[in-house]
Amino acid sequence: MRITDVEVIPLRIPAHNVHIADGIQDDVIVRVHTDEGITGVGEADSSPMVVKAVVEAWPSWPRCRGLRDILVGEDPLNVEMLWEKMRFGTLWLGRNGVAQQAIAAVDMALWDIVGKAQSKPVHQLLGGAYRDRIRVYASALFTEDPAEMTEVGQKYVGQGFSAVKFGWGPMGRSLAGDVKLVETARRAVGDDVDLLIDAGCPFKARDAIQRVHAFAEYRPFWFEEALEGDDLDGFRRLSRAAGDIRIATGEQESALPAFEALITEGEVDVIQPDVSRAGGPTECRRIAQMAYRHHRLCVFHAWKSGILVAATLHLAAITPDIPFVEYTVSESPLRRELAHVATTLKDGVATIPQAPGLGVELNEEIVARYRMDR
Ligand SMILES: [Mg+2]
Repeated sequence: MRITDVEVIPLRIPAHNVHIADGIQDDVIVRVHTDEGITGVGEADSSPMVVKAVVEAWPSWPRCRGLRDILVGEDPLNVEMLWEKMRFGTLWLGRNGVAQQAIAAVDMALWDIVGKAQSKPVHQLLGGAYRDRIRVYASALFTEDPAEMTEVGQKYVGQGFSAVKFGWGPMGRSLAGDVKLVETARRAVGDDVDLLIDAGCPFKARDAIQRVHAFAEYRPFWFEEALEGDDLDGFRRLSRAAGDIRIATGEQESALPAFEALITEGEVDVIQPDVSRAGGPTECRRIAQMAYRHHRLCVFHAWKSGILVAATLHLAAITPDIPFVEYTVSESPLRRELAHVATTLKDGVATIPQAPGLGVELNEEIVARYRMDR
């Protein structure tokens, strides 16, 4: 089997509001085509037109090539070798960041092809599953209105979620205001639900330490992205001061060395790679194994379409120690209708897809309705 084309499809909903932190208002998917009629699908959480450029760029020299130029003519079953070829061929596009995000989408599609060719689900190809289902958490935004937060928290608990995350919004304006947000969130979900707090990077270490002490009585499971990603010294200070609260971060990162630095230098308890940003299933498996080796948690971030939902569930299946993963609850049509996933969600627990490949079926009507390149 040979790769004949790497097709990039940018998508965007007409109601796209750039001021709302909902990353599934636009999307970029790739389809890797082969000469045997098998097609794989993948997705990147990035800027769609930038990913398109990374795939379609002409070759400048051996370490500065587009992904299509690297892949056409290759055997798609050689996924790990092709991942290394893509890494080497895009070194000048950035060892971290958008090059890895584009590789993530293509890598996902390659694993989808291998699974379809061998009639096996991706988790089996990646080494075999520890589980056939996983707890998932729902995410909501902090808002100015406590009644709104209460309503949203109660809605997710009512749907059966046993872990709920609140994040961003007004967090970071004042100590008293931030404590009120966490108190409201805890009241909304009740005492028995794991409450996750996502600050959205507003703090310096000193302020974050003050918060983590003040939040303790509301027993958050973790405190996420309190600091900017490169503040390893700050993460170390915060982690050492955090007591029982786990310090989590990493959704911005896209290569294994950055995650390892967060653990060994930042001393964080939880890393949060996103399979559609951090090099795809190939690299995310290595990242999860690295975290396990350091006795830390790897809990996948995921806020995109059903394609990423499926890829995340396969990675959750093969990760030895994982309490739950994020489950995108956005109402965007790109989340709800773009891809059908072979999973069921009941009482906050999702089944791992067992269909060949990723176990996703694209809705061609939705692709045609929202694609931006025609
Ligand atoms: Mg986050």
